[in-house]
Amino acid sequence: MDIHEYQAKEILANFGVDVPPGGLAYSPEQAAYRARELGGDKWIVKAQVHAGGRGKAGGVKLCDSENDMYEACDAMFGRKLVTHQTGPEGKGIYRVYVESAVQIDREIYLGFVLDRSSQRVMIVASSEGGMEIEEISEQRPDSIVRSIVEPAVGLQEFQAREIAFKLGLEAGLVQHMVRTLQGCYAAFSELDATMVEINPLVITGDNRVLALDAKMSFDDNALFRHPQIAELRDKSQEDPRESRAADRGLSYVGLDGNIGCIVNGAGLAMATMDTIKLAGGEPANFLDIGGGASPERVAKAFRLVLSDQNVQAILVNIFAGINRCDWVAEGVVLALKELDIDIPVVVRLAGTNVEEGQKILAQSGLPIIRATTLMEAAERAVGAWQNDLTQATRMMALK
Ligand code: ADP
Ligand code: MG
Repeated sequence: MDIHEYQAKEILANFGVDVPPGGLAYSPEQAAYRARELGGDKWIVKAQVHAGGRGKAGGVKLCDSENDMYEACDAMFGRKLVTHQTGPEGKGIYRVYVESAVQIDREIYLGFVLDRSSQRVMIVASSEGGMEIEEISEQRPDSIVRSIVEPAVGLQEFQAREIAFKLGLEAGLVQHMVRTLQGCYAAFSELDATMVEINPLVITGDNRVLALDAKMSFDDNALFRHPQIAELRDKSQEDPRESRAADRGLSYVGLDGNIGCIVNGAGLAMATMDTIKLAGGEPANFLDIGGGASPERVAKAFRLVLSDQNVQAILVNIFAGINRCDWVAEGVVLALKELDIDIPVVVRLAGTNVEEGQKILAQSGLPIIRATTLMEAAERAVGAWQNDLTQATRMMALK
């Protein structure tokens, strides 16, 4: 789960990371009020969306009057911000963060990520802040400092000092940098984060180390341990199809094609998507219904897949180990009876209780297309979808 910049800053500030003073606003009036409250004569207003690259896309503006603030906010509220991270559909702006403008001397990149090969938290830092890490690794790979944290002892002071020295910080700032690094690491590990990124972390004109931007993501599977983090979820920033799935405990990723997929197991779901493409179709989604799927859960999955207007055929692919084919078959029948489905449905079952499953499908009297292998299933789903399309075009022509 992702959170907003202002939320990440509040969390990190509680762990000892310094941030500029700021306040949240839901309207231009509130933003102007926030600026007055902060005092000073220069403020930065920042669109709160779950994506980076806002600066280049018009989502971060410097204002030096109340009028400026109104104008900047009018251009943001209710609009969609399209950055290189949002995809062409963009993300809606419903809140902005108003912050005192800071005088920047140096910009540093700082990231905490999970390094899968060492199975540890890795700190990635660079003296070339402000640019995205992808750009830095292309243009200035030599500037990148990497350091792996040993979980049994956490981030040690000497290790944090070493990072500060490698970034070329002057001696007077090292202790402040150590506190910042240790604060980020503590927030990362105590809150089950999967990513903390501060870009830029700046050295100000008056020699302070401040986080001007902050991004945090959390492990969804650990959210139950952190209700105060789970509460920060903002559904306006999520794909509505994925929100619905998360609410129902299903693992779903929406895609652009027309063949809806209902599969058990992430690996099988990936293989199913590949096979659909191989057969000349495009998958509409990734959906893993998990092990031990009850008929009700299968019906739920159908409802979810059908809520995508682009879905014109459905492929159910189950390899039952812990699952049972007869339960899945019952779920398919239940869904088809309940949901008035008028698009082709292809079902491929294999594994535990497959004979019973086939019998349930066959005896249901429903127009279910059956297949034995995955390739056959994908070809039938793509074929049925293309057939349906030609029929629809013919009907249109007859009208
Ligand atoms: P994004 O990464 O989404 O583009 P940032 O929060 O990093 O958004 O802001 C973009 C740029 O705006 C920063 O790199 C920094 O140069 C500038 N900036 C952001 N906040 C402030 C601030 N409080 N004072 C001065 N400059 C800022
Ligand atoms: Mg940034």
